[in-house]
Amino acid sequence: RIVYVNGEYLPEEEATVSIFDRAFLMADGVYEVTSVLDGKLIDFDGHKARLERSLAELDMDKPEAFDDLLDIHRELVERNGIVEGMIYLQVSRGSAGDRDFVFPDPEIVKPTLVLFTQSKPGLADSPVAKTGIKVISIDDIRWGRRDIKTTQLLYPSMGKMMAKKAGADDAWLVEDGKVTEGTSNNAYIVKGGSIITRELSNDILHGITRAAVLRFAKEAQMKVEERSFTIEEAQDADEAFVTSASTFVMPVVEIDGAPIGEGTPGPVATRLREIYLEESRKAAI
Ligand code: PMP
Repeated sequence: RIVYVNGEYLPEEEATVSIFDRAFLMADGVYEVTSVLDGKLIDFDGHKARLERSLAELDMDKPEAFDDLLDIHRELVERNGIVEGMIYLQVSRGSAGDRDFVFPDPEIVKPTLVLFTQSKPGLADSPVAKTGIKVISIDDIRWGRRDIKTTQLLYPSMGKMMAKKAGADDAWLVEDGKVTEGTSNNAYIVKGGSIITRELSNDILHGITRAAVLRFAKEAQMKVEERSFTIEEAQDADEAFVTSASTFVMPVVEIDGAPIGEGTPGPVATRLREIYLEESRKAAI
């Protein structure tokens, strides 16, 4: 696999970053994941805009190659022959060659930019989407700026492990009695024809897939309510699902052991997945 590190395309074995890199020492980094379908990028502009916002919120400089990001993504897709899959991008505050809580001088220390591809044949035609996933609920004990897409993913990673241990696929995070989001996705329920998902704030990541799915839902005359909901309300809903760049729209069929609706993917989630894939493919670049 060919990867990109600070201006260079290299075989992955030859790609290196410093042990003093602040993403490694302090999770002082932000990232984006863009999916690839038919060799084209889904929602590239949305991911680039969110990256710019994450960087600004953390007072981090844009990497020098910021304006070339589309070309870099395309070059990696081409060189690695990616038809379906993902591109991971990470920017860190760089390496000052030492460890210090104080941010290094941006005049001297430049951000580290890393990109690599992941080939995932069958991403769109996923067998999992046909059966749906099971989730458990866990306490949301993450920091208070979940709107910034940082690389501090230890708790979400632990949440996935807790889910696995409980025989489920993923976890929904709960704070003050309300669902915030999934470990790596936004959470939704459907009740009486209404699509319900938590409103945007610092409490959740502003999903690029979320924005697209809500737009498509409104265009299809579906009712959308942006508000928080409890696990009990979710268990009593007609349907549930999650969205993310790497899973698109994924039906949820069980929450904490309780089947949702019929315990199979519901018509709204199934239809939204179809619309999302169709429209995103048309708009891919
Ligand atoms: N919430 C969290 C916590 C996430 O990690 C992700 C995916 N990285 C999402 C939501 C979904 O965001 P997107 O649709 O932009 O992938």
